Amino acid sequence: MPAFPRLLGGRLCLHFANTIEGPINPEPEDFLHDYDDLLRWSWHVEAVDDAELKSLRKLARATPDRAREVFEQAIRLRQSVDRIFRTIAAGGEPRGADLRSVQQRYLEGLGAASLGRADQAFSWSLRGIDDLRLPVWRIAASAVELLTEGNLTRVKRCPGADDCGWLFYDTSRNGTRRWCSMEGCGSRMKMRRHYARHKQRSLRYHGRVRPFSQ
Ligand SMILES: [Zn+2]
Repeated sequence: MPAFPRLLGGRLCLHFANTIEGPINPEPEDFLHDYDDLLRWSWHVEAVDDAELKSLRKLARATPDRAREVFEQAIRLRQSVDRIFRTIAAGGEPRGADLRSVQQRYLEGLGAASLGRADQAFSWSLRGIDDLRLPVWRIAASAVELLTEGNLTRVKRCPGADDCGWLFYDTSRNGTRRWCSMEGCGSRMKMRRHYARHKQRSLRYHGRVRPFSQ
């Protein structure tokens, strides 16, 4: 089972946008190539459970054309989610077309959901739905939840070393988180700054640096 990127987005929909590594890099790496990848990733992020993984995988193998179609829907949803929250992180207004595409998937899911008791209150549930779109619906629901109930000033884009660009929801107490991860991009930037300072100093005091003497 190939590794998936770390889950640093803080929300399902942002984890999903981050299934492309280095989105602002000229050669970003995409971790999702087909419906089975989407399914395994959804299980990895706990958007589907063991039983759902098993039954959806069986259904996908029985209806490969449909699985391809749903995978394409998922990738279009990812593009919309990514553009919406990247724009919000930059202080802009998301495009209507992207909001409508999230809305469409969300309403489809709601159409299939049932109202049932969850502890004290009732809630919409997609449990027991044998439909390949299940992970897509849950991701769309996460995006709608973030848009309608989240604190949008906490949606941020990691500036890490000019090539990260991952999105995350800042849940730090003061809202001062800057990096997707302190030990990843945070320390890379620190090292880079340290190196730049060090290099400048050595240029200033020692002239040109000669790494090898021959
Ligand atoms: Zn980062």
